[in-house]
Amino acid sequence: MVTTPVNAMERVRAAIWGHLVGDAIGVPYEGRPPDPARVVEVRQYGTHHQPAGTWSDDGALTLAMLDSLTAVKFDPDDQAQRMLSWFDEGTYTPDGDGPFDIGVTTRAALDRLRRGTPAIDAGGDAERDQGNGSLMRILPVALVGTAQDGVYVERAHLASRVTHASPICQVACALYVLIVRELVADPAVAADNMLIRAVARLRAVYASDHPGFASVLDELLAHRASLRRPGGGWVLDSFWSALGVFATAKSYRHTIERAVRLGHDTDTTAAIAGGLAGLRWGQSGIPVEWISALRGKDIVMPLIARLV
Ligand SMILES: [Mg+2]
Repeated sequence: MVTTPVNAMERVRAAIWGHLVGDAIGVPYEGRPPDPARVVEVRQYGTHHQPAGTWSDDGALTLAMLDSLTAVKFDPDDQAQRMLSWFDEGTYTPDGDGPFDIGVTTRAALDRLRRGTPAIDAGGDAERDQGNGSLMRILPVALVGTAQDGVYVERAHLASRVTHASPICQVACALYVLIVRELVADPAVAADNMLIRAVARLRAVYASDHPGFASVLDELLAHRASLRRPGGGWVLDSFWSALGVFATAKSYRHTIERAVRLGHDTDTTAAIAGGLAGLRWGQSGIPVEWISALRGKDIVMPLIARLV
């Protein structure tokens, strides 16, 4: 498949749309049990009592990351300030409605940031802090600018550490970023090849720059065959669930349906998978009625216009 530069940029922007739409579709279903026959559609109210088409923390913090990266390049302290702006002032939320669905690890990190802890030291690294709260906002790190693999990996680690400092969270973010880079290079890449190549690139970076992380990557890879709870909020359940629903999906819609049918952390699984599916199938692959229903497009448009 040949992609023109225009087509490639449309797909990069569609990654953001795909993430936001996946989040918004998943929000009303969050916390439900799995249901393989669940009808997945635009709904209002539900779990968080939100109007239809409202993205949650996943979407807002992804937009905060995108805003930071396109405004000041890579600066975790700036990322942290924009996260506080989301939490305190409702920035990056549709109509400024304000935040909802905030993870406990993120909330604790924001408290530390407010007390003056440097951004890259603010994240928790206890076992209970191994949630998907940094993975869900890491997508723009892969989309803004071009860099060597080692730079992408370092950025993914540091961006994770603002809220989630556990090595397993940092490694999940780094692998997701390199997977996104594979899709940017070839949107039609077979999912198995995409993963194999991204893992090989990450192994190479760890061998030279971060030898202590190689065993953490092995731990992440070993978890693939034994999820604790598909669709759950633990970072490795979340990573492999999102990758799994995307890898064998036939379309963007199919990806999101499968993510939401897993139940539990539906919005985050759908957001993480939706970013990949947006790249694969482009903006025209996102169901029209889903993107029409998305609130806050006036916030998104100027931010994604800065993706060049
Ligand atoms: Mg959420």
